[in-house]
Amino acid sequence: MSKDYGVYIHIPFCKQKCFYCDFPSFAGREKYINEYLHSLRREMELGAERFGIHGKLMPHTVYIGGGTPSHLNFSQMEMLFEGIHANMQAYGAAEFTMEVNPCTIDEEKLHLMKDNGVNRISIGVQSFDDGCLKCIGRVHTGDMALEKVKLAQSSGFQNISIDLMYGLPGQTLDTLKMSLDKAVELGVQHVSIYGLQLEEGTVLAKQQEMKRLELPDDEAVEEMYDYLVDFLPTKGFNRYEISNYAQEEYHSRHNTLYWQDIPYLGFGSGAHSYWQGNRYENPVDIGEYIKAIADGKFLNIMEEFVSEKAHMEEFCFLGLRMTKGIDKKKFRQTFDKDIHEIFGGAIDKMVARELLAESGSAIFLTPLGMKYGNVVFGEFILE
Ligand code: SF4
Repeated sequence: MSKDYGVYIHIPFCKQKCFYCDFPSFAGREKYINEYLHSLRREMELGAERFGIHGKLMPHTVYIGGGTPSHLNFSQMEMLFEGIHANMQAYGAAEFTMEVNPCTIDEEKLHLMKDNGVNRISIGVQSFDDGCLKCIGRVHTGDMALEKVKLAQSSGFQNISIDLMYGLPGQTLDTLKMSLDKAVELGVQHVSIYGLQLEEGTVLAKQQEMKRLELPDDEAVEEMYDYLVDFLPTKGFNRYEISNYAQEEYHSRHNTLYWQDIPYLGFGSGAHSYWQGNRYENPVDIGEYIKAIADGKFLNIMEEFVSEKAHMEEFCFLGLRMTKGIDKKKFRQTFDKDIHEIFGGAIDKMVARELLAESGSAIFLTPLGMKYGNVVFGEFILE
């Protein structure tokens, strides 16, 4: 099987649920970890066949995300890697990423990751300011994050990404600047930076309902955004996607697959797959996932055929997230139609408002369009 697909592996366990998080992750479920890892291995063994792949998987990229993969203890991590290597050629992947939390990573685990072919780590930092970290329920301090990034570097990782956030409770432009300066000083290769969204059901959303949440006002958040989009490129971090900045050659190859409409297989609870025009979604509930795998009910896991209309919309939403934009030739090859035939009205309207621009080969968001991406995406919804 050719290497034109990625593999995502989900580890849904966390030490504590962060106050802003609505990802499929859970705290206090450690007693399920070993059983979960058995199920994951079983799913990887049988899952490949479910997608018509025979023999070992040969993905272009592998990404272990969560949740918090580093919440596994050393022997559980060994189990995870054994399952992976038994079912795919992860050592041969162009990129093999693992997400870690500063609080649960140590030298032994970092060496284990390295020995098992992980060549990129993504560290959830969010902020180096302890006040902000406390307000969003992170389990580490800013100093601990600094120390663990340095530990990853001294353990031999040369491709490190950190996640940061802006618009946080208690955050000011100065504390954001401090976090950005620290990221630059550390010499990491990649920064993902997201604006806080208040997602339903999270602690922060509840605090907001009870009027107990103090957030920076819209003007302050806009100031933070304007600052960071100017600042990071001056330090060699080029923006290649709405929320992602990288040093030359260090963009995330795995996430780029998603934005380029390339297939991927997802294993684990809540994981999504996109394969031969269909989407699949595993149960989010850990117990339900374990039971589904034990019953061999792979084909009962939710499956959705993506219509051409939905595929065209997604192709555009995802392509526009990247600064290089939608590849017009690829659109024609995929749908056998010129993009103007389908989205001509939307393109003209957005170009006139200077939110979109067009070159011979691509259609892409302008800097203003990057700021107001949702306005543009809304125009790419077909009747
Ligand atoms: S560590 Fe990550 S996945 Fe876990 S609760 Fe926090 S943000 Fe969510």
